[in-house]
Amino acid sequence: MHKLQGIAVSPGIAIGEALVMDRERFRIPRRMVARDAITHELERLLRGLEATAEEIQKNRDTIARELGPQYGAIFSAHLQMVHDEQLRNEISDLIREHQFSPEYAVSQVLRRYAKVFQALESAQLAERSHDIFDIEKRILRNLLGHRREELSQLTSPVLVLAHNLTPSETANLNRDFVRGFVTEIGGPGSHTAIVAQGLEIPAVVGTGKFLGDVSGGDMVIVDGEHGVVILQPDDATLALYQREVEAKRTYAARLQTLRDLPAETADGVAIELLGNIEFPHEVTQCLERGSDGVGLYRTEFLYLDPSREPTEDVHYQAYAHVLREMAPRPVTIRTLDVGADKITHAPSPEDERNPFLGLRSIRLSLRNTDLFRTQLRAILRASVLGNARIMFPLISTITELRQAKMVLADVMEDLEEGKIPFNRDVEVGMMVEVPAAVTMIDHFVREVDFISIGTNDLIQYTLAVDRSNKDVAPLYNPSDPAVLRLIAQAMRACNEASVSASLCGQMSSDPLFTAWLLGVGLRQLSVVPSAIPEIKRVCRRLELPYCEQVARHVETLDSAREVKKYLLKEQRQSPHADQF
Ligand code: PEP
Ligand code: MG
Repeated sequence: MHKLQGIAVSPGIAIGEALVMDRERFRIPRRMVARDAITHELERLLRGLEATAEEIQKNRDTIARELGPQYGAIFSAHLQMVHDEQLRNEISDLIREHQFSPEYAVSQVLRRYAKVFQALESAQLAERSHDIFDIEKRILRNLLGHRREELSQLTSPVLVLAHNLTPSETANLNRDFVRGFVTEIGGPGSHTAIVAQGLEIPAVVGTGKFLGDVSGGDMVIVDGEHGVVILQPDDATLALYQREVEAKRTYAARLQTLRDLPAETADGVAIELLGNIEFPHEVTQCLERGSDGVGLYRTEFLYLDPSREPTEDVHYQAYAHVLREMAPRPVTIRTLDVGADKITHAPSPEDERNPFLGLRSIRLSLRNTDLFRTQLRAILRASVLGNARIMFPLISTITELRQAKMVLADVMEDLEEGKIPFNRDVEVGMMVEVPAAVTMIDHFVREVDFISIGTNDLIQYTLAVDRSNKDVAPLYNPSDPAVLRLIAQAMRACNEASVSASLCGQMSSDPLFTAWLLGVGLRQLSVVPSAIPEIKRVCRRLELPYCEQVARHVETLDSAREVKKYLLKEQRQSPHADQF
């Protein structure tokens, strides 16, 4: 049994067989071959090695022709390795003596070689390990050929173990078979984490390197509550987690009884509980969980298919579905928020050094107004089908907000000229997720119908900490008093101006913060759909004077640690501590 500690990003416990993905997404299980198939498998290995050698030779010749023989020499070294007798013998021996499949034998031997290079002190020699990984991939590609198993074509339940998964790869995971995932890199606020929550797949990220120690088919436990991953658990551990899964199932069933009850505090203050969605089909989860609407629709996930840009009709169909299903409940459609870790085929700048500070989100929309206008037209056309609201992301200056509103006004005029119906009174709001927007909040609230506080970004921009980087993850902390003060400041301005405000960052889904959020004046929380029942349970137990007292006390604390300690203590002792 081997235990890893990572960052918990999507709750739940998953138990099952590992599917190990290397950087090229190959599946390399520890497969055995039958004794009488060994000769055949050795021949297959030989064919794979020959095809690889041919490929490298071709590359060498092309490069040498176009750039000169010195560049071709790089490939000569690769070729030499593929022809190396010792290497070939080591691989063949593993197949012959241990009955390993050629794929598994290749990856075992080449990874061992790569590790030896990685351990060398000379940086130049350590770099050679990349060449070895490259050769390994080439051989695997030739061996697996069309047998390569795509993540989307799974046929049995697995837990995916990978170096990294992009938000789009995560979005494409087949929920019927992928029961959980673990990645070596990634941070707490990454969009991969957010998508995992949306899909309700337990996930742990940022474990550091471990893929070398695990084989496909190994039993694995992913504990998405505590960020723990257990490889090859012993029987006692397995039984413990199985009991935990059962207890969670029972608790979730009990929470479902709250579905049709209002989310109001014990002293009668109405709270709106809305859902955050990334895909139209998530409205079903919102409705099943008893949500009061959609507080954040991350429309950028319409752009994840790299093969085509969504047309106005693709946009329209998605919005129409969500609006119709949720009507008469409100649906806040956020305009395109790509860039940084949400990489799509939408025009993105090359070579950004700091993509989170770069041309992302509303900045990108204002630079590509055709794209922006297409989306706005679709939202407006769909606005007659339900209760639509339009929200602009990452607003950092008043000029940006005005420019975005001007484009919207222009699109409205076009629709009017074309006699295309839309809701002229559609509410227009903005995300408050940059400290500058909080600083200038008294001005912003005069020009919007509503705001939504995006703490996922607000935390990273306030504390100068990349939300997707595991190495600085401890700094990425919603309990930090600097972040809490900004939220409280934004709420004061909204309440003074009577502008409606919600909070749609991940912290609204964490019951630890519910009392504090209500205490600073929030009456709308937009949470991941799976968290709606639990947050509703907590709201229904709280009384407002108590929440305000919590907020006042937090104001006196000076560190994230103190805040968390205090909120945990309150959570244990307060009236909402008992479950029902
Ligand atoms: C946020 O930043 O809090 C937010 C809700 O937006 P996203 O997570 O999509 O950046
Ligand atoms: Mg954001």
